[in-house]
Amino acid sequence: MIALHKFKLLEAAASLLYPSVCMCGGSIRAGEYLCNQCEAKAVRILPPFCHKCSEPFEGAITSAFTCANCAHRTIHFDAAVAAYRGRGIVREIIHEFKYGRQIHLRHLVARWLRAALDDDRLCALHFDVIVPVPLHPTRQRERGFNQASLLAELLSAQTSSPARPFLERIRYTTTQTALDRSERMENLHNAFRLRKNADVRGLRVLLIDDVLTTGSTLSECARVLKRAGALSVHAATAARA
Ligand SMILES: [Zn+2]
Ligand SMILES: [Zn+2]
Repeated sequence: MIALHKFKLLEAAASLLYPSVCMCGGSIRAGEYLCNQCEAKAVRILPPFCHKCSEPFEGAITSAFTCANCAHRTIHFDAAVAAYRGRGIVREIIHEFKYGRQIHLRHLVARWLRAALDDDRLCALHFDVIVPVPLHPTRQRERGFNQASLLAELLSAQTSSPARPFLERIRYTTTQTALDRSERMENLHNAFRLRKNADVRGLRVLLIDDVLTTGSTLSECARVLKRAGALSVHAATAARA
């Protein structure tokens, strides 16, 4: 388990270093992370979007459809949902949280993640377990934490579902950013496995990550969970690139 007190200390230090001034220079209400104007700039994902991977579409599409991102490949999750676009202020905050060691920002990112659970595809479901997408141990050491684990723990505290690190990453993969869809899938092949003693048979799993890009990581994790007997695997992320 993660040394939470260490984060609390970092968080306290961060709040001393960063008084309640927004990124834009405006003032922030106590307990908030952005001013009202900046928070309002977070872009919601509105229909129409792909039912499977939440890829938004311009224009009016009223019938059910599969997007180009999901076509011609097997997607192993039942649905992956994000409520916000990973651009502008959302992208900046997630970047600060992950790479800028602004760990206190997890609360704001978790709020965006929580909005995904209100989606029609997830709101009526009960999840037996919340599973974060794991980082490779080397990367987790570099970063000091796994952002998905922190988000899963916050979500667990707000729901009745326990968070469990049932997956591990066994291949250190290069960053996915510069790769196209098929390269991403190739890059992730056999990158994950079920942890020793993890038992997901018959469980309805909610997979958590910070950002969904093509869905390849979530699909690969879902494949491992379903092969191990999970009944269903849905995914929620704070944002969709
Ligand atoms: Zn602001
Ligand atoms: Zn799709």
